[in-house]
Amino acid sequence: MDRAYDVIIIGGGPAGLSAGLYAARASLSTLLIEKGILGGQIANVEHVENYPGFPEGISGFQLGQAMHQQATKYGLETVAAEVTAIELAEKGKVVKTTEGEYLAKVLIMATGAEPNRLGVPGEERLLGHGVSYCATCDGPLFRDKVVAVIGGGDSAVEEGLILTRFASKVILIHRRDQLRASKLHQQRAFANQKMEFLWDTVAEEIIGDDKVKGLSLRNVKTGEKSTLEVSGVFIYVGLHPNTEFLRGLLRLDAQGHIVINEEMQTEIAGIFAAGDIRQNSPRQVITAAGDGATASLSAEKFLSEQR
Ligand code: NAP
Repeated sequence: MDRAYDVIIIGGGPAGLSAGLYAARASLSTLLIEKGILGGQIANVEHVENYPGFPEGISGFQLGQAMHQQATKYGLETVAAEVTAIELAEKGKVVKTTEGEYLAKVLIMATGAEPNRLGVPGEERLLGHGVSYCATCDGPLFRDKVVAVIGGGDSAVEEGLILTRFASKVILIHRRDQLRASKLHQQRAFANQKMEFLWDTVAEEIIGDDKVKGLSLRNVKTGEKSTLEVSGVFIYVGLHPNTEFLRGLLRLDAQGHIVINEEMQTEIAGIFAAGDIRQNSPRQVITAAGDGATASLSAEKFLSEQR
């Protein structure tokens, strides 16, 4: 038989965990379903320094754990499972998972986003053999080696700076001649003696048989081709929302983000979305947490109107 809840939250990052805290504190029976590590993307972030309340910053893993602990204290239940399908039935919203079926009056989608692949030859084959998407996880493997970072956003710069603690040199390769990252990140990167920059350059192939040996590069302005010897390639070329499993159920924009109104309500009554999966998200920990709170407050209002 289905296990029934007032609210089921799918995804255990800052958006889902904040939604869980608010829903549980409102005395709604609440289940959070997460297939991976609680905390979502921040679980791998070494140091979060722009979440208010932590003047010295806090490890992303610790922040995720603390958010979960706080919500659990008020009655949030959590299950480790992957959602395989969602069905709208007369009795409610049926959530099918690898650990069985659950029934909800309200759903809050908070499955976040994950790193884009660069999509060049060698990337898939050498993943875990020098290709990585996580400096905090894999940086120590590249002590005194030369590594490349691909991308020009906050992630590329932030993770590049983490790598300077291990690598002898970090070469940031960007397709334009200006970084997209915030000014603060840029200043830190330009001031770091171990960081070098290759502008107007794209990687066309990651070279190596059983481990990364280098990159084939092309200058997008001159067309000039070159190779660069590196032992590691860290890729940060943006994120895509984890909404593939919602295709056909909810309205998504061209990039796959869920379309919502200002109450985090989707076009289906009783289904809300929060965090990086929603359209126009600023993609910050604090905005994800704010979305989660808004979604739960809207859910509470929806449920009281149903009664
Ligand atoms: P992003 O801001 O979308 O930046 C992606 C970078 O990759 C851009 O510089 C982009 O180049 C480049 N790029 C995209 N596709 C490429 C391709 N095919 N080949 C080569 N380069 C490519 O992604 P992000 O850095 O992961 O950040 C995502 C969001 O999280 C942002 O809103 C960011 O502010 C936020 N974030 C915040 C923090 C923080 O506050 N501490 C830390 C990390 C991330 P162009 O610049 O030419 O488009």
